[in-house]
This record gives sequence, C-alpha cells and structure tokens, in this order.
Amino acid sequence: MQLTDSFGRTINYVRLSVTDRCDLRCVYCMAEDMTFLPRTEVLSIEELATLGETFVGLGVTKLRITGGEPLIRRGVINLLERLGQLSGLKELCLTTNGTHLPQYAQAIKDAGVDRINISLDSLNPDRFRQLTRFGDINQVLAGIKAAQAAGFTRIKLNCVALKHYNADEVPALVQFALNEGLDISFIEEMPLGRIDEHGRAAEFVSSDELRSAINQQHVLQPFPEKKARSKNAINAGPARYWQAKGYDSRIGFISPHSNNFCSSCNRVRITATGRLLLCLGQENSVDLREALRTSDNPFAEVRTRIINAMHHKPEKHTFDLDDEPQIVRFMNMTGG
Ligand code: SAM
Ligand code: SF4
Repeated sequence: MQLTDSFGRTINYVRLSVTDRCDLRCVYCMAEDMTFLPRTEVLSIEELATLGETFVGLGVTKLRITGGEPLIRRGVINLLERLGQLSGLKELCLTTNGTHLPQYAQAIKDAGVDRINISLDSLNPDRFRQLTRFGDINQVLAGIKAAQAAGFTRIKLNCVALKHYNADEVPALVQFALNEGLDISFIEEMPLGRIDEHGRAAEFVSSDELRSAINQQHVLQPFPEKKARSKNAINAGPARYWQAKGYDSRIGFISPHSNNFCSSCNRVRITATGRLLLCLGQENSVDLREALRTSDNPFAEVRTRIINAMHHKPEKHTFDLDDEPQIVRFMNMTGG
C-alpha cells in the first residue's frame, strides 16, 4: 500500500503534533498572549497512537512527533514507545526546543526514536531570551549534550533566521554545529498566524544571503542532491544541503520563499486536534478526530478518510512576503 496524491507524489512522511502548548513563545511562532486549546479538543495518546499505526499501515515510513513542544505533553514517552515498535516504520523522529532533553533524552532514545531536531536560534543568552520571550539558553545547550550522551547521531539544529534578530549570528551558529558534529538547517520565516512583534517582510533574509555570509569563513560544497534525496537519505526533505570543506556536518537551507520545494513534497501533517493538513501553506484539511470519536469502526473510517484526502493535496503553497498572515493558524497548531 502506498499513498499517492493527484500529482503523482508518494506520501510516506507524517508529522504529528501532540500538543499546541509550549514552554517558550518564539516571536516568529506565537503571539505573546496565546490562548491554547481546551484539553478535550486535543487528541489523546491512544488516538495519536491509532493515527500513527494507521498511517504506517498505509505505507508511511517516517513519523515525526512535534508540536507545540512535544516533551511537555503528558504521556509522550509512552506514545514514542508504541510508535517505536511499529514494524514498517523506518524512521521515528522528534522535533523539540530542547529544554526538556536533559530529563528525557535517554528515555526517548530507549523508546526507539531514531533522530532528533533541536531548535536553536541564537547562542547569545540575552538574544535567545528575546527570541523565545523567556527561554534559558543553558537548558537547550544541556539538552544538546544530553541527546549526544544518549547516543543520538546526526542531531540537527533548526534555526529560523530573522534579519534584525539573529541573521548576523549565522556564521557563529554554523561554527558551533561544526565543532559539535551537528547538522544545522536555516529556515526562512513562514507567514503562519498573526504576530505582533515584527513585520515578517522586514525580517526576511534569503537563504542565498546566509550562504554568502557562511562562505566568508568556509568553503561550502553542495551536498550531492541525489544522496540527499535518496529514499534512505538521512535528510531527505525540502532543505538543500551543503557541506563545509573538512567537516562532516550538513548545512541545510529551507527556503519556502526563495526556492519552492513543493514538487518533491512527500508529507502531510496532523494538528493537535486531529485535523489532517495536506499542505503547510494551504487550508485543505480533513477531520480525523471526528472519525476516531464517532465512527462505529474508527480504524476503517480513518483509513478511508486518509486515502480520499490524498486527492485534495494542493500542488503547492502560495506564501508570499506580505505582512498579512496568509494562513491564520500558528505553527504550533500546525505540526511544524
Ligand atoms: N517546539 C518544537 C521546536 O521548537 O522545535 C517543535 C515545534 S516548532 C513549531 C517546529 C519548528 O517550526 C521549529 O524549528 C521552529 O523554529 C519552526 N517554526 C515555528 N514557526 C515558524 C515560522 N513562522 N516560520 C518558519 N519556521 C517556524
Ligand atoms: Fe514553542 Fe517551538 Fe513554537 Fe518556539 S517554535 S514557541 S519552541 S512551538
């Protein structure tokens, strides 16, 4: 069984948001004053596990647990353990802000998680606090160490680069990743949700500009596209990868504005409320929670809805550099 959309793309990767809540408030991701969902609207651990199992039964080989901050969701280790046992699943991944990794890294590894992405936008304590509104960089640095100590390899840092906040720090972040043997990806900010802290257009900095800045210090060589996109690739996805001469780390650029990657899209997302989102940048979606909660035969109904939904996966996102949000939902709801 394989999920295929009407543009011939195989969908084998699902990102599952386990909560909309977070212990940080990154300026590009959330408004300062957020109202979170009532708990009854969020999928239970049992429902999340059922969705994971159903997708793997439909040929999905990669699951990423995300949020909000997945590690503040009660029962998440139990969920990871269940998903980690699914035969047919090749990669179980987690995206986290890292603050709870000192506590959970080993349990996550033992549960069968293959790879971790950790968000890190600045190494400067004051700036980190400004970007996350109240985060403590030392918790994240300790989290990275804990993930390394637990035996995770190819840990990837994610950094959203904003012109007037942290773009000047990009070479330093790269050097940190190279020294620590980590991969790192830089993401162009996406217009999801209404934020008040900054204008998204004013903060735009293109991946090409960042790469030029890194090039001042390192000779960058493109990481072979074929290797990066092969089925077994560690980092297959929308990022374009480069390597600094003399280092093993990969330096990726996710460029929704400057380099559209939709033609190779292989993924869908599930929001914390069980809505199957067919594209990060469009509203097409299907309610799976209703099927889980009201159908006499939830497994069959969810399966049918997923298969039918593939016909509604849009060809591409239509983000532009307008300050008006093109999508009203925030990234924390989306399963970023
Ligand atoms: N809390 C976890 C974390 O920060 O890694 C997981 C969820 S977070 C929504 C997933 C990723 O989305 C993070 O790397 C974050 O930087 C990124 N992100 C959030 N809002 C974004 C936006 N508006 N544009 C681009 N990336 C965004
Ligand atoms: Fe929380 Fe992640 Fe959003 Fe930052 S990017 S506010 S850590 S969900």
